[in-house]
Amino acid sequence: MLDVTRLSKTYRTGDQALSDVSFSLPQGQVVGLIGPSGAGKSTLIRCINRLVAPTTGSVKLNGIELTTLNARDLRKARRRIGMIFQEYALVERLSVMENVLSGRLGYVPFWRSFTRRFPGHDIARAFQLLDRVGLAQHADKRADALSGGQRQRVGIARALEQDPELLLVDEPTASLDPRTSRQIMRLITEICRESGLPAIVNIHDVVLAQAFTDRIIGLRAGRIVFDGPPSALSHDV
Ligand code: ADP
Ligand code: ADP
Repeated sequence: MLDVTRLSKTYRTGDQALSDVSFSLPQGQVVGLIGPSGAGKSTLIRCINRLVAPTTGSVKLNGIELTTLNARDLRKARRRIGMIFQEYALVERLSVMENVLSGRLGYVPFWRSFTRRFPGHDIARAFQLLDRVGLAQHADKRADALSGGQRQRVGIARALEQDPELLLVDEPTASLDPRTSRQIMRLITEICRESGLPAIVNIHDVVLAQAFTDRIIGLRAGRIVFDGPPSALSHDV
């Protein structure tokens, strides 16, 4: 459960990127975050994972306040948030399996073939995740040998590997063709529903958001201007 309460962010430049944003996210719910460029979507995502410090307000993940953590506790808290990125952010020279296991570590080790250093049950779990995203047969391939859709599947498995309590997904389909985009969005929502994982998906494409999320939050000039089921979204949001 994620609780965002009266969150505001004013950058040092004076830009008020978020004003009084409040919402709660129950387990398993996938929210599509929409709004024009500059609406505050990235700032909201960054305030939740604390890449940006909010000016006022509260962000609680399963009861733990994230806005006031010190650096050490913040590192631990970030481990509870899985991130999925537009450009996948894979390590190209590493294998699919190594990329997924790096999710467990939270960093990319410099030792060669680090897969051998993980106990069997960690490898088995990573295989399960790769199987879930449809890539079990590609575990030993290098990331740079994969298509865009396959890379994003690795990105999803890597985020799940850290056993997160929340997924933050930033424009996951922006680099993909329409058919692959639908497959990736379907996969994310199915995984969230079956595992009870809540997710916020920053998504440019309103049609995709409507088709594959449970709820839409529309931002405009830093404020929530819509919060409801996809079917209730009118075209002027
Ligand atoms: P979106 O992701 O919806 O495009 P952003 O969160 O990136 O919106 O931006 C919201 C507002 O905050 C914009 O006016 C933008 O110019 C401003 N902004 C974003 N990041 C910064 C920053 N690092 N410093 C100053 N202003 C910023
Ligand atoms: P996106 O399209 O992904 O929201 P942007 O192009 O808005 O990204 O922003 C790119 C980067 O520039 C981000 O790190 C954002 O925080 C920063 N940024 C955006 N607007 C401003 C601004 N007005 N002043 C300073 N940094 C900004």
